[in-house]
Amino acid sequence: MKKSRFVKIIVAFFFALILPVVSVTIFEVIQHDKNETLLESIYQRQLDTILFAVNQNCWINFNSWVAELTAQFNNKSTPFPNEKKTAAVLDRFIRSYPSIQGAFIRTDVGKYTVSLEDELLFQKEPIAHEKSINELDKIILLDQKAILAMTDLARKGYVNPHVLPWKQADKKQVTLLLFPLRISEDTKMIPTLAGIFIDNLTYIEEIVGRKFNTMNESNFIFGVRDTLSGQIIYATEHVESEIFERSEALWILPSLQLEIKLTGTTLEDFTQARAQTNIIFLIVVNFILVIGILYIIRYVYLEMLLAQKEKDFVANVSHELRTPLALIRMFAELMEMGRVRSEEKKQHYYKTIMAESTRLTQLINNILDFSKIESKKKTYKLLPGNIRALVVDILDFYQYHIKQKGFVIHNSLELNLPQIRIDEVAIRQAIVNLIDNAIKYTDDKKIINITLKTENNSIILSVQDFGVGIPAREHKKVFQKFYRTENSLVHNTKGSGLGLALVKNIMDQHAGQVTVKSKVGEGSTFSLIFPIKLKNGA
Ligand code: ADP
Repeated sequence: MKKSRFVKIIVAFFFALILPVVSVTIFEVIQHDKNETLLESIYQRQLDTILFAVNQNCWINFNSWVAELTAQFNNKSTPFPNEKKTAAVLDRFIRSYPSIQGAFIRTDVGKYTVSLEDELLFQKEPIAHEKSINELDKIILLDQKAILAMTDLARKGYVNPHVLPWKQADKKQVTLLLFPLRISEDTKMIPTLAGIFIDNLTYIEEIVGRKFNTMNESNFIFGVRDTLSGQIIYATEHVESEIFERSEALWILPSLQLEIKLTGTTLEDFTQARAQTNIIFLIVVNFILVIGILYIIRYVYLEMLLAQKEKDFVANVSHELRTPLALIRMFAELMEMGRVRSEEKKQHYYKTIMAESTRLTQLINNILDFSKIESKKKTYKLLPGNIRALVVDILDFYQYHIKQKGFVIHNSLELNLPQIRIDEVAIRQAIVNLIDNAIKYTDDKKIINITLKTENNSIILSVQDFGVGIPAREHKKVFQKFYRTENSLVHNTKGSGLGLALVKNIMDQHAGQVTVKSKVGEGSTFSLIFPIKLKNGA
């Protein structure tokens, strides 16, 4: 087969299939990283949005507290309520919200009204209580600047509390939120202030936790971290690791941080798993494609090989037909001219013409039978027959031809073989093919051994020669159609490459087998094996 044609096909494949596929794969791999980064940032933004919503909710909640107290005390046209009334309002207020542990109002003249849920916030005894208030006032005056700035903002309609951590005797984490209650025109003076003491943990459970739960995001775990200790102090689910994906300060209580992560995995693991799945998918697709391409290349290669063999076949067969025809014609002409006088020579010419025309018939039969087999039109008529008689008949018929080629036949044919069902014409053709090959592929040691015996419930017919032999790797291939081994003798001997393929088909139809034992330089033995039981039903 011409190599250049095959190379051209491979190149065509490369440009038509492999190149686009490789380009797409490389593009996918490059694009893949970008996609994953994009995906991760989208996820992060989604998590941030959820945290933002929780924060906003806390803010709205705080504003509702501001609104509630402001409604009671903001009316500038009326005098500020007396202490008793103020205390009553504060009492009611702190009792309505579990996370509020206490509240106070400091008027613009520095007068305090305090209402406490948790007594530990302030000292209880009157003197100590007074001391606590003095301390609180000191703190407030110390933060005067910040409080005035906050008041300024509130004047513009934006109430942003001034936040102070509150030291507590029982180590409970308490935060004080201060905000202006009644804003005066005087920008240099601390206005009437309200203060709310919040128990951080109760606030988280009551306000933040409830919001987490209403969001019902089963894909996420929420947590709250105390930034001072670095510990997670609240989580919607038990967490093994304290590492969350995204975090954001809780605006209202800045010492706390809202955190969020995906349930069961991390964002990185999640995107990595996705990346892995995509890569595996890409590899599998490419693998299937490569297998497909290899299959197609192999198929094309075999088809081209077959086409080449068919071409060789035509050349070989024409040559094989021409040689016996030339011989027949030559001898016939000699006879016609009456030049051959001796009876012995005449006999020799007759026999040559007979033998050569028989060979021609055999060759043509091979081709015709093979074409019938290919088009599935070949049928065999299996009838009880005597295989020994058939072998004797063939040897008798070909004796002259064999002798003329300088061959000696040794045969050992077992007597009293059982009858088996055979198609005599087909088996004759198979045996003649084997003998013909033994002659064709022998150089020097021109001996052919033919044996017929029974063994293991089979009748075995073997044709042994001492010719060129067949390399082990080709033992199977010689039975393929058009197959011819590569050696000089085979090269010089013309043949169709169909003989053994035909023998194999014939034996298959007899539920039998054809086998070969051969060594290069030592010779070959081809055996036809007929099962006795199967075919001996007659
Ligand atoms: P052909 O003889 O027409 O080429 P066959 O199908 O009969 O085709 O044989 C196929 C090939 O097997 C031959 O070309 C030859 O190479 C090899 N072969 C067959 N018989 C023998 C043998 N007895 N000794 C060596 N080689 C053989």
